Amino acid sequence: MEHFLTEQQKAIRGLARKIAEEKILPVRAELDEKEEFPWEIIKLLADTDMFRVFIPEEYEGLGGGCLDLCLVVEELSRICSGVAVSYAAVDLGIIPLLKYGTEEQKRKYLPDVAAGKRLAAFAVTEPTAGSDVGAIKTTAQRTSEGYILNGTKQFITNGGEAEIYTVIALTDKERGPRGASVILVEKGTPGFSFGVKEKKLGIRASATRELVFEDCLVPTENLIGKEGMGFIATMKLFDSSRPGIGAQAVGVAQGALEAAVVYARERIQFGHPIISLQAVQHMLADMAIQVEAARALVYAAARTVDSGEKNVSEESAMAKVFASDTAMKVTTDAVQIFGGVGYMRDYPVEKMFRDAKITQIYEGTNQVLRNAIALELRKRKGIRR
Ligand SMILES: Cc1cc2nc3c(=O)[nH]c(=O)nc-3n(C[C@H](O)[C@H](O)[C@H](O)COP(=O)(O)OP(=O)(O)OC[C@H]3O[C@@H](n4cnc5c(N)ncnc54)[C@H](O)[C@@H]3O)c2cc1C
Repeated sequence: MEHFLTEQQKAIRGLARKIAEEKILPVRAELDEKEEFPWEIIKLLADTDMFRVFIPEEYEGLGGGCLDLCLVVEELSRICSGVAVSYAAVDLGIIPLLKYGTEEQKRKYLPDVAAGKRLAAFAVTEPTAGSDVGAIKTTAQRTSEGYILNGTKQFITNGGEAEIYTVIALTDKERGPRGASVILVEKGTPGFSFGVKEKKLGIRASATRELVFEDCLVPTENLIGKEGMGFIATMKLFDSSRPGIGAQAVGVAQGALEAAVVYARERIQFGHPIISLQAVQHMLADMAIQVEAARALVYAAARTVDSGEKNVSEESAMAKVFASDTAMKVTTDAVQIFGGVGYMRDYPVEKMFRDAKITQIYEGTNQVLRNAIALELRKRKGIRR
């Protein structure tokens, strides 16, 4: 399908594919098995200017947007979603800076992120506040010396590896979610430490850790935007980042589809390759249709984000839900086409099946996002009987 990408977008996609196939493919099983953060690959992504893709030109980036990020994430995920999410979480971490940061804040942090010298992470989730983001308890009390943070964030991608953390904390706990703000915390700040790395089902190359704040003092100038806008900033951030999760899902589904086609051509049963069986052909055809449909929806949502359209919640949620459900279905069918060996770690579809699951969970579970889509439908005017 023609997606009418610009020459620069085609070049970015081509380079991401080359890196994924030549450098990530040979180490992906090892990264997964050892649950190792892919520092060598991250350095390579930095050296090839991949972190510049989603940063504006005035801060030493290439000036790309959501679609450009999606193209890279999709190509990396086609080979290894663990690497892809480590990359994409950097974008997530700097979105508050891009959207609400002052010129001074942007100049201080973005060029280093663009160069891949410092990774970023975004932290809202807490042990008692997952889907219910408004229930966060971490506080950032304003004092004459700065903000004092106390609390624990859970399941933070790039936790421990990133240098820059955009953290949602209550600057006015009496006001609940309306008292939440975005505070930037640098690694190494006294009172800021990390919990143990989580042991995960999939995306094992990525690091997921707790962030612990104990009387952690950060300068007042680390407030991003205004006090009280943390909750709305989080919602807006996810609106523009969810196509990226969709791209992760499309990438892993594409990888599984390709592996299944190759295997079905080679595997002989009853004297013929199994791809000559109509039952297998129809599974592969359905997988291909679903991947194309998911990709089209993800690119359309990403383009809507890039257009500057103010309300992208619905498109963005639809793209994430559809693509992640597709990834789960396609990777499940890929394991089925591989038969018994599909269940073994020696073949890539076992990892893809495990990696796909998270896309239905993070950045809003698919149930919660269906609620949001249904709410839009309930409110929509102009629908006729
Ligand atoms: C590997 C990984 C990486 C992550 N990375 C980050 C990160 O970088 N930064 C960050 O801040 N967070 C991160 N998260 C957190 C992630 O976004 C949350 O796990 C997710 O939003 C779900 O929250 P929860 O786990 O508390 O589940 P819960 O909210 O407890 O949900 C449990 C179940 O209840 C359902 N449910 C809950 N409320 C509703 C409702 N209103 N309607 C219907 N069903 C509902 C859910 O769909 C789910 O099935 C990460 C999580 C994981 C696992």
